[in-house]
Amino acid sequence: MTSPSNETILYGIPASPGVSHGQVFRFLHRDVEVLRYDVQEDDQDAEIARFEEALLETKEQISKIRDDVARNLGEDEAAIFDAHILVLEDKALIDDVVSEVRTSGDNVEQCLHRVTQRYIDYFGQLEDEYLRERASDLKDISRRLLGNLVGATAAGTAFLEGPRILVSEDLSPSDTASLDRSKILGIATDTGGRTSHAVIMARSSGVPAVVGLRGLSGTLNDGDALLVDGFEGIAIVNPSESTLFRYGKVGLRRKKIKDLLEEEASLPPSTKDGSKVVFLANADSAEEVRKARSHGCEGVGLFRTESIFLRKNKIPSEDDQYEEYRKIVESAEELPVTIRTLDLGGDKILDSIGREKEENPFMGFRAIRYCLRNPDVFLDQLRAILRASTHGNVKVMFPMVSGVGELVRAKECLSTAKRQLRESEISFDSEIQVGCMIETPSAVTICDMLATEVDFFSIGTNDLVQYLLAVDRINNEIAYLYEPHHPAVIRSMKRVFDVASEKKVGVTVCGEIAGDPHFLPILLALGEGSLSAASPMLPELKFFARRFSMTEAVELLKRVLRMTRPSEINQTLKDFYEQRVSDLIS
Ligand code: PEP
Ligand code: MG
Repeated sequence: MTSPSNETILYGIPASPGVSHGQVFRFLHRDVEVLRYDVQEDDQDAEIARFEEALLETKEQISKIRDDVARNLGEDEAAIFDAHILVLEDKALIDDVVSEVRTSGDNVEQCLHRVTQRYIDYFGQLEDEYLRERASDLKDISRRLLGNLVGATAAGTAFLEGPRILVSEDLSPSDTASLDRSKILGIATDTGGRTSHAVIMARSSGVPAVVGLRGLSGTLNDGDALLVDGFEGIAIVNPSESTLFRYGKVGLRRKKIKDLLEEEASLPPSTKDGSKVVFLANADSAEEVRKARSHGCEGVGLFRTESIFLRKNKIPSEDDQYEEYRKIVESAEELPVTIRTLDLGGDKILDSIGREKEENPFMGFRAIRYCLRNPDVFLDQLRAILRASTHGNVKVMFPMVSGVGELVRAKECLSTAKRQLRESEISFDSEIQVGCMIETPSAVTICDMLATEVDFFSIGTNDLVQYLLAVDRINNEIAYLYEPHHPAVIRSMKRVFDVASEKKVGVTVCGEIAGDPHFLPILLALGEGSLSAASPMLPELKFFARRFSMTEAVELLKRVLRMTRPSEINQTLKDFYEQRVSDLIS
């Protein structure tokens, strides 16, 4: 929709609450746009010198990745990067690019693109599989070289002069982890869903975000004005004065609400009739733990350790991990911290591991599956977690468990790590509690069997919804089918709570549902347990909890369990919320 002021309103999916307005920064992390311009003969030497510099820079980057991979995963896995370095040293290729610059009079980016494309086309049509694969090496290398030539790398926010609204076709968790968050006012992407990991990270750091804005990034340039409304899922290009005024008023009101919620955040968490509620936080850094504690959380319910791997863009050593875990555990002081073992895969890809692209990454080589096949990586992590356990109250948890066998093998690895530490006389909490995520339909079905192996469950609704409903959590084409209100989801959670109570194991809900105030009453009514949510959501959850009684929550759950349609459940929870917090909404 375009107004006379050239304002354009686009509708997407609200992903992280908040409103921000500022200049656009187009984040290029995929294919770099290859510009073409003339270069005078006198300037051709400088152009070739730029190419040589980019070759050196790229070689250094790849050598570093190669060494990390060799150290952490072994020489076989590192071999692919040797092939990449050989490409960068290939005299024929370099000479071809230099001669293209001399003869065509075009800029080096364009010449590099043309030459590598010729090679890629040639290799790509060969019969020999090994040689055909060289085409994909070349593609990777030329993308990195072009990135270095135009200065558009993944960590491209470092050079920004001031904070900007980041606009991108797509945003991966490793992109998000590498961003300087002080430079990001808001995020607007063409693709993605509410529970993609990039969005979860944005929500934890309180950055407003809208996703699924199909085609937006292609229509904007750096410096354009953009307003992001993460409450409603709206992006406004070139907002008019009256829009800014309206949003200014909305902003003032939101600020008042925020102040009110924060004032009450220090009150003890309970329902209106005094039932105690345990709120934990999903936190990935000591800073987030401090923030969450100021909102009155009673511990860290989910520490996604892969965030450290993604930030460093490599597999950190045992010592490095230990230091990171220790910082978080110490910042929580005596409060419990549930450290989840590595959940790489799905949309959380570590470039430096250089893994094959998967057809169905969310159903693929992910989380505990990866760890059990890479025992060195897993044992390093388990020892680091155990060592950190002496500094506070640590629990360890395994993600993506789909069967008892996996859980037993993971626990065997934990026992091996304990034995290794004992042999080296390194102390740890020998009574450390062990839990598993319940986030696959099979885990729900056999949770009674899993219960005999663990001290606690943690329900990961982000994955559970996608697997129960067979709806990819990051695909915005089918985002309308990703329905956390589906009766299958609510029944599954009920089963897990019932079994947990019967088998006397703890239970937490740590997916994004736990941070959605609309769900709060029915989650509390499911039974004794705790909720772990992004820290910015805690004040509102606590505020709402004080406005209904447990009796009302149980009644509401009973009604919801009889409903057949997600839309009806959604509306019922919304109405219940709005009636109770009408003073806040009006
Ligand atoms: C979940 O699946 O709900 C969860 C908490 O894990 P993640 O979002 O990291 O997959
Ligand atoms: Mg999960």
